[in-house]
Amino acid sequence: MTIRVATEVVLDQLYDYAVPAELVSKMQPGLRVRVPLGARVVDGYVIEVLAEKGEALDELPLFSGKLAEQSEGRKFKLRYIHSITDDIPYVTANLLKLVTWMADYYCAPFEQSLRCILPAAVRSKSMRSKEQLYVAPQQGEFKLTKRQSELLVEINRVGGGWMRFLTREFSCAPQTIHNLAERGAVTIEPRQVWRDPLANRKILPTKPMELMPEQRVALDTISRLIDLSAQGQKTAPILLHGVTGSGKTEVYLQAIAQVLVQGRGAIVLVPEIALTPQTVQRFAARFGKRIAVLHSALSEGERFDEWHRIRSGAADVVIGPRSALFAPVKCPGLIVVDEEHEPSYKQDESPRYHARDVATVRGAMEGCVVVLGTATPSMESWNNAQSGKYNYTALTARVSNRPMPDVYIIDMRREAAAGQHATMFSAPLMEAIRLRLERGEQAILFLNRRGFANSLQCPECGDVAQCDACNLAYTYHQSDSCLRCHICGGWKHLPSTCGECGAPVLKYTGYGTQRVEIALKKCFPQARVLRMDADVTTRKSSHDELLTIFRTKQADILIGTQMIAKGLDFPNVTLVGVLNADISLHMPDIRASERTWQLLAQVSGRAGRADLPGEVYIQTYSPDHPAVRVAGGHESFETMATRELAERRAGGYPPFTHMVCLTFSGRSEQKTAHAAACYAAALKKITAAVKVSEAAPAPLAKARDRYRYQILMRSTSAIKMVNMLRKLMACQSPGEDVRMSVDVDVVNMM
Ligand code: ADP
Ligand code: ZN
Repeated sequence: MTIRVATEVVLDQLYDYAVPAELVSKMQPGLRVRVPLGARVVDGYVIEVLAEKGEALDELPLFSGKLAEQSEGRKFKLRYIHSITDDIPYVTANLLKLVTWMADYYCAPFEQSLRCILPAAVRSKSMRSKEQLYVAPQQGEFKLTKRQSELLVEINRVGGGWMRFLTREFSCAPQTIHNLAERGAVTIEPRQVWRDPLANRKILPTKPMELMPEQRVALDTISRLIDLSAQGQKTAPILLHGVTGSGKTEVYLQAIAQVLVQGRGAIVLVPEIALTPQTVQRFAARFGKRIAVLHSALSEGERFDEWHRIRSGAADVVIGPRSALFAPVKCPGLIVVDEEHEPSYKQDESPRYHARDVATVRGAMEGCVVVLGTATPSMESWNNAQSGKYNYTALTARVSNRPMPDVYIIDMRREAAAGQHATMFSAPLMEAIRLRLERGEQAILFLNRRGFANSLQCPECGDVAQCDACNLAYTYHQSDSCLRCHICGGWKHLPSTCGECGAPVLKYTGYGTQRVEIALKKCFPQARVLRMDADVTTRKSSHDELLTIFRTKQADILIGTQMIAKGLDFPNVTLVGVLNADISLHMPDIRASERTWQLLAQVSGRAGRADLPGEVYIQTYSPDHPAVRVAGGHESFETMATRELAERRAGGYPPFTHMVCLTFSGRSEQKTAHAAACYAAALKKITAAVKVSEAAPAPLAKARDRYRYQILMRSTSAIKMVNMLRKLMACQSPGEDVRMSVDVDVVNMM
């Protein structure tokens, strides 16, 4: 028998080994093994079992350290593995299949893909926590002294515990407890101590709620799929489309309870930003110790322990951000992707996977049900639900019929014409803020500011300069005063007048959260203002701290970026102001309109969550834009989505095509531009079936002293494009000092 192994030393090169006869029957993918590598013996993981069981080579090894690629057709004597480290596989065979698929699909090195299921913290031996002595009281009659009897009563009262804890709690020496053990009154044994991220939190258990009629229908639909999958039938993913506050989470909880009864596990993905203590609390309150949390804020030790609790089966409900999708849950019955539309599910480094899409692939491989939940479906999932590829169920009302907030659209062109110096706060918004301060209620001001991607908008008429060929906002490149289209690579010089109304002044005036904070303090000196954006939340806990300050009403107004847009529930917030909806509306991004509507719907969901009714003010220069009209309740989501999909189809955009973005970066602008241009030319020659753009400067034209150029490819087949690329990459390197990255199903073009 031959096995292919990734070693701890070089994960990216696979080596083949022979398996001694006595280990052949135990061999399976995912096992951890000890193997010889050069003069050393190292840890490795079985990636693939190549030959049938039982046909071990019996000759002595002559060669090791052989590359997998070289093994085809060349006869070397393989070295034998030394031993198997543990009996249960470290990762499951399905997960190995998944990361192999992922490396292929996303054109990523296998090693980087493998790291998703074997993160460093999990493999590290130094992370293993020590065992400690655990004392468990026993039933029966024992001959004890008075002092010993008293101590035993105490130990019984607390139900046993760690030796260290008991000696401290009851002020006794360890020897006293050992004496109890000698008389059989307690047992003492070493046990592994799990570092528990939920320790020190008081969590009151909750029972399943009586469901609202729509929730009932949704759960029944999901239950049917769960039963089908339990019988081994394939099930398509289901889109759970429920407005904010409609009780999606309760539906997830009860669906999870159902798979647990069947002896299967569950994975719940939430956007990193929505993984608040409140969210975790809701799951822990229902499932207690069966919950494992995988969180970027965990210490390495906590991460190690949580992962191994999952692997051992001690925890079978996993909640976490996108990386939790790779948790070694043995037999998942349900994968929930909450807020499925969230762009943060796309990883922005290799492997550049989209957790929602990979979740559906894992679901298919594991034969489990995938629920995609959202108030604002992505066009991808909406299209799949419309075409019947996905199942669909909707929650249209908020729980207990709490009303949706009133939404007002403020036309900033009119505000400007009325002579307000109002680029930041319109008169109605000012008045609304003033009222909140007077009434002691709270307000959230939202500004989505992604610095570099500037569109060019006329302050007189609101017109935005667009590429006619692609129907997409031009990006203004300040460095060379050019307007560039990031789909086709087309460009033109900065015009001196507005193309629509002829007004001469045409400049982009931007402002960020910091300036808003200063201006707000000037207008309302008495207000307590809190700002939350990437600049102030870099510390591990500052995000939670700021939210706690706001929740406990130690601040009146919270200013923030999309960080504050979702998942948070503040009962005293009755006003949400969107300072400039146009920023995201005119991003040079095919999803600009979709994103804007999603953001507006999510921030609006922040207002009026409890007993106080809410108001939302949306400031915009484009009040007639469909995304704004839907948010204002002037158009239905279905109407907008139908039109948006028609436009995407006509333009050849996702979800009707796949887009691959190649980014070249280098210290020399000339070399980088040249490398990109050569690649674009070569790709165009291969086939006309794939649309390839000209090479052009990226929206983020320079970062960390490296110039950045991009090529965009579009085709109905992602695999076709990746294969094309692989062939080209094999024979043509991007050139010296130039790096190239491949982003399949690109979400953020930067
Ligand atoms: P969503 O996830 O759709 O935004 P949540 O699950 O957060 O909505 O539910 C909103 C609120 O309604 C929560 O406070 C939740 O406890 C409550 N809730 C959910 N379902 C029910 C129900 N069937 N009966 C009463 N309250 C419910
Ligand atoms: Zn264009």
